[in-house]
Amino acid sequence: MNRIFGDFIYGEGPRANCYWDTTCDIPTVPSLDRSLRVDVAIIGAGFTGLNAAKVLAEKGAAVVILDTHAPGWGASGRNGGFCCLGGGKAGDAFLDANFGKDERLRWRSTEKAAVGYVADFLKEHKVDAGVHSNGETVLAHRARDARAFDDEMSSVKENYGVEPTAHSSKDLRDQGLSAGFHGGMTIPIGFALNPRVYIGALVAHVLHVGASVFQDAQVQRLAREGSQWRLEAGNHHVLADDVIVATNGYSSEDIPDWLAGRYMPTQSSVGVTRPMTRSELEAQGWMSHQMCFDSRNLLHYFHLLPDNRMLFGMRGGLGGTPASDTRAQVRLIRDFKQMFPAWGAVELTNLWSGMVCIARGQMPFVGQVPKAPGLWAALGYHGNGVAMGSYAGHLIGHAVLIRKVDNIPLAMSSPLTKFPLGRWRRGLMPPVYGALAVGDL
Ligand SMILES: Cc1cc2nc3c(=O)[nH]c(=O)nc-3n(C[C@H](O)[C@H](O)[C@H](O)COP(=O)(O)OP(=O)(O)OC[C@H]3O[C@@H](n4cnc5c(N)ncnc54)[C@H](O)[C@@H]3O)c2cc1C
Repeated sequence: MNRIFGDFIYGEGPRANCYWDTTCDIPTVPSLDRSLRVDVAIIGAGFTGLNAAKVLAEKGAAVVILDTHAPGWGASGRNGGFCCLGGGKAGDAFLDANFGKDERLRWRSTEKAAVGYVADFLKEHKVDAGVHSNGETVLAHRARDARAFDDEMSSVKENYGVEPTAHSSKDLRDQGLSAGFHGGMTIPIGFALNPRVYIGALVAHVLHVGASVFQDAQVQRLAREGSQWRLEAGNHHVLADDVIVATNGYSSEDIPDWLAGRYMPTQSSVGVTRPMTRSELEAQGWMSHQMCFDSRNLLHYFHLLPDNRMLFGMRGGLGGTPASDTRAQVRLIRDFKQMFPAWGAVELTNLWSGMVCIARGQMPFVGQVPKAPGLWAALGYHGNGVAMGSYAGHLIGHAVLIRKVDNIPLAMSSPLTKFPLGRWRRGLMPPVYGALAVGDL
């Protein structure tokens, strides 16, 4: 396998101190101990792969998921728990210019549907994933960002058919969201959850409907063999009519070769504090369990968990080394203390990071790999894949069932294009992040 980072980020180091590990175990499944012949093989047992397996196995297909690690080991089992709108970074003007207004609205309704899709799963399967927060609130770190919410309110209404609520800085203080922001806007779509509980419920369900899931099953070679695909994992292989690549930020340049240069893995970091007392929360004026992010390009995302720990996330390091991970943690602690000065002495007991995935066109890809019959992929959620990764998995699984890409907005089914610089494309990120940081001043 050919990957663009060193081994560190694909190992245990970055996730060693993940808070979700203390809430429930990562589900384990057997190792691959034989060769198999199936209808559909899925590479990656995160939200994407598991939801693709769900729809396929529910309809009676013979499905196997192969993962290097246990299900949810990747970003799906270690994220911030925001089940929210997002998945692409392209703005309305870009979407209108490239795909037309109807397709933009189709994409926006897909974002909304993705949140509903996860909510329906949790409800239908009676999963107690510690759900909290009514929608999501964006907080203005500058006065001019608060003024810009006036324009954004009408586009939220047009895109998602819901009425957002604007908040002055006084409203925020009154609502227990006091951290020096200049105003805010709540979009009443989305909720926060414990992603590990959700993963566990998904694994239980896909096994129940007949899918097979194997860990310790890294796919090292993927090639056409006659009219089928052959996946080699350790001493065994799987033959499948169709293959779904669901590897997102843990993708490689050669599984399949088509992906080379077409995805940009990048790190996100999260910290969680110890549970805080009521008087500590009052000292900061932050009492709300609403999930929030700030208006920066390089944004911070945060919510108070049900037991009053604060979860605080932001971009991670760029180097993919232990040293750059440590530097990212230092930055995270610094930013947390700047944003919540009354919690300066509250320790962050858990700090970890993981890989998200960016696409050059700033939109996810959910569709058929060009010129490769039976090869499908879903990835590139720009750090917002709890809802979108889940729904993308559902959409790609359905596409495989009916053997065509139907009902997927053009903006997310148009093939990924290549970044400049090929396998050295990580070099693009420091100047991009630098420019974004300057834009945040
Ligand atoms: C720290 C962090 C915080 C985040 N916070 C949020 C948030 O709050 N809200 C939100 O919406 N999104 C968030 N995200 C993003 C979100 O978690 C991801 O978009 C989503 O989980 C992607 O799911 P996935 O199934 O596509 O990929 P992943 O969950 O990353 O799974 C990919 C899997 O592929 C496997 N794999 C890779 N190559 C191979 C191979 N060759 N053979 C076998 N297996 C392979 C990996 O082992 C991995 O398990 C966050 C991400 C991180 C890292």
